[in-house]
Amino acid sequence: MNGPRIELISSGSELLNGGTINRHAQALGAALDAEGYTLSRDTTIGDQAEEIRDALSEALDRAEVVVFSGGLGPTGDDLTRGVVAEMLGCGVVMHEPSRLRIVERYRFRRKPLNNLVEQHALVVEQAEVLDNAAGLAPGELLRIGGAVLFLLPGPPSEFQAILTDHVMPFLRKRWPSSPVRTIKFHVAGLGESDLLARMHEAKFPFEEINPSFRASPGQVLLTLTHPDEARLTHAGELVQSLLTVHELVALSHDSVASVVADLLTGSGQTLAVAESCTGGGLGEQLTALPGSSRFFVGGVIAYANAVKESLLDVPAELLADQGAVSGPVAAAMAVGVRTRLGADWGVSITGVAGPGGGTDDKPVGLVYIGVAGPEGSAVREIRFGGSRSSVRNFAMRAALNLLREHLVG
Ligand code: ATP
Ligand code: MG
Repeated sequence: MNGPRIELISSGSELLNGGTINRHAQALGAALDAEGYTLSRDTTIGDQAEEIRDALSEALDRAEVVVFSGGLGPTGDDLTRGVVAEMLGCGVVMHEPSRLRIVERYRFRRKPLNNLVEQHALVVEQAEVLDNAAGLAPGELLRIGGAVLFLLPGPPSEFQAILTDHVMPFLRKRWPSSPVRTIKFHVAGLGESDLLARMHEAKFPFEEINPSFRASPGQVLLTLTHPDEARLTHAGELVQSLLTVHELVALSHDSVASVVADLLTGSGQTLAVAESCTGGGLGEQLTALPGSSRFFVGGVIAYANAVKESLLDVPAELLADQGAVSGPVAAAMAVGVRTRLGADWGVSITGVAGPGGGTDDKPVGLVYIGVAGPEGSAVREIRFGGSRSSVRNFAMRAALNLLREHLVG
């Protein structure tokens, strides 16, 4: 498909000074990518009028669609619509239906209204007004020369609402795209280059399908995209044949957690977790999945040895002899949480996340994960370099993957 050139401009000084992470590029990029469009450029600027004017005129010269976010509120630093009106030589006017919605919302919430709030309903005179299901300031669609400019509010929930309700429908109608077909492989224990080398050796059709690789701690996400289903399936089968059950952790699932969730739910089994260095992160990942109550019973954050003993029945002698970061303790934690919480499976994580606390024997990045199930327990030692958060993320993924391997037999 020859789609339109689409650019994003995010404005707000907080995006440049480290105060807020710019989330719009991800939201817009993902929404576009899912439907076969491409985000060509993402520009982040401050709140100043000249910056807004320059960025807009440059982008409007290059692109067919420009999405501009931020600065639609009523405060002194919200300059967007004034600048756009000036560029178009028109005025800024009150959009009465939006103003009435604001008045109505305030009445409903029994909040006193001030006239600053009503200014959220100001719009560029020539704009087509796009209602905002998640907030006060409406979005705006403007046609400037041959381009289309969308003005969207800065708060992410409002940006997303107008993106879904107005921007995507507009694009679909104006530039219908053919459906995108993709296959995603989440691969563990192999680097990008290892995987690529195997694909070369197996004569993967690179001239036809350009694979995309994304590496994150302990995992590579390989995406194959092709409009022809038969070709894509053929290439997908080839890649699958290059990976062992240990290495291919998820196929076209969003994450290993969702694979584990499906396996447990499908077999009617339950899971409990015992976490030391990940401090509850594994439980968080699992409970973030809708429907997790069908398989997840709970967890114990056993950070101190005393808690490993009292709540997970890890023997004091084992802790003294082997140390908290050890295979036997990981196994005992998994067995303990499984028994105490009455689950079919128990998973445990204990390790040295760093940056301090490492020794020659037990360096930063050394993690033991344990799994206990109906047929006993197993542990795996993993060593991973990187920051504290990388080690923790890697440990959680490795734990889920170990469980997955046991669940698939
Ligand atoms: P408001 O009516 O809330 O003032 P606005 O359209 O004027 O909306 P801004 O003032 O630019 O938008 O931003 C409002 C809030 O949204 C701020 O908390 C800001 O940090 C957040 N925000 C703005 N842009 C982004 C972005 N690109 N990514 C994440 N958060 C953002
Ligand atoms: Mg604002």
